Amino acid sequence: MSAPDEREGPRDECGVFGVYAPEAQHEVAKLAYYALYALQHRGQESAGIASAHVGGHIMTLRELGLVNQVFDEQKLRALDGEMAVGHVRYSTTGSNAWENAQPVHRSDRRELALAHNGNLINAVELHTKLREQGLSFRSTSDSEIIAALIASHPAETVEDAVAEVMHELQGAYSTVIMTKDRVVAFRDPAGLRPLCLGRLGDRYAVASESCAFDIIGAEYLRDVQPGELVSIGEKGITTRQAVEGPREAFCVFEHIYFARPDSIMNGQRLQASRGRMGEILAREAPAPSADLVIAVPDSGNAAARGFARASGLPHDDALIKNRYVARTFIQPGQELRKHGLRLKFNPLPEIVEGRSLVVVDDSIVRGNTTRQIVQMLRDAGAREVHMRISAPPLRHPCHYGVDMSTSEEMIAHGRTVEQISAELGCDSLAYLSLEGVYEAIRGERGRHCDACFTGDYPLAGTDGHEGKYALELPVVRA
Ligand code: SF4
Repeated sequence: MSAPDEREGPRDECGVFGVYAPEAQHEVAKLAYYALYALQHRGQESAGIASAHVGGHIMTLRELGLVNQVFDEQKLRALDGEMAVGHVRYSTTGSNAWENAQPVHRSDRRELALAHNGNLINAVELHTKLREQGLSFRSTSDSEIIAALIASHPAETVEDAVAEVMHELQGAYSTVIMTKDRVVAFRDPAGLRPLCLGRLGDRYAVASESCAFDIIGAEYLRDVQPGELVSIGEKGITTRQAVEGPREAFCVFEHIYFARPDSIMNGQRLQASRGRMGEILAREAPAPSADLVIAVPDSGNAAARGFARASGLPHDDALIKNRYVARTFIQPGQELRKHGLRLKFNPLPEIVEGRSLVVVDDSIVRGNTTRQIVQMLRDAGAREVHMRISAPPLRHPCHYGVDMSTSEEMIAHGRTVEQISAELGCDSLAYLSLEGVYEAIRGERGRHCDACFTGDYPLAGTDGHEGKYALELPVVRA
């Protein structure tokens, strides 16, 4: 997938990491740094690492910015310790501010640092309850609510505290906490957001995606199960099924778009799943008059190759992407816009001239970028432009930690595929069916969330959720 700033697509939610590795005591912050570096696509607004020696105090460093902007050698050296947790954030609940950067640090009854990916749907209610109990908050993020519930819980062990708190939380929470002597990871009973377990020598690590293990030489073991609590300490690992939910609901959009193609989820390497999406799309929606398949890079790469494989059509690179586009903040003036500003993509006329193209991408949200690409390819001499999308039309917002546009902003909202095609100015448009998605990921619909495509929200009471700023009003800053 592309970095979200480079496209109009939904914003990723957050990435989390935790490691218990006393043998690597001077390196834990570096392990966290590189793991977060691999998870950067999941959040670009802030980054943070907390570290501790077993039995010692927790040190936390978090700032707005990318991982390599926030940390340098000196800062990582200061984060000495034997275990660490880390976080990259795109704001889902709470606006983008330093106070909302993670890991969250609390020391009510027990000291802990917490990194959370997800979105609580009962955040306002829990926040009110905790304030009535006299707890104060420094942030407007729902992650601090989870931290406060666990840090103030009277249970003797942190595992018991987490298990009881999990019964109070509703929504998506793939979470890692570090106390004075252990790292504990837990996932909501629907398993909405990913979380996996890896082994580093004789020790263990947890991360949002397995690509974080590859970069630090750890081995992917398995996904943390929905409702499972995994505790990592001196004696190794203990695990318990802390909560059962009515159904599993893993985010199907992770397979399509969010997660890195080199990550493994539910046992499937995403690059291979995305290739299958393209193959099935070619079967479901061939483009008989086309003579060349191209991708919208990088988001459409795997599916375009799959489409070409299945259709027997040649495949080439015809759109060159500016990989540094997220770094420019200069707004183009009217004159530049008029000339069809090629900020993100530049077409190669030698490849597209006179050709009938199949152009593959993984999703369309508002449609502005796709419309520009279609026009750009026509200007470069393409004879026909057939858009093929390796996911169904996006028509509904996400209530589980992903910042999508509102329904009204989505081009597919209230429009037929033919109407969308006309809006985009292409010769034909087709989307992969929902059945095609599940065939490609080798998963069952009843164990996934696909609400942004179907409007069928798997958790009760989430249809009219307030959205990411739900906590902004009730918070009284400490
Ligand atoms: S609504 Fe879409 S993005 Fe949100 S959790 Fe469900 S499938 Fe994922």
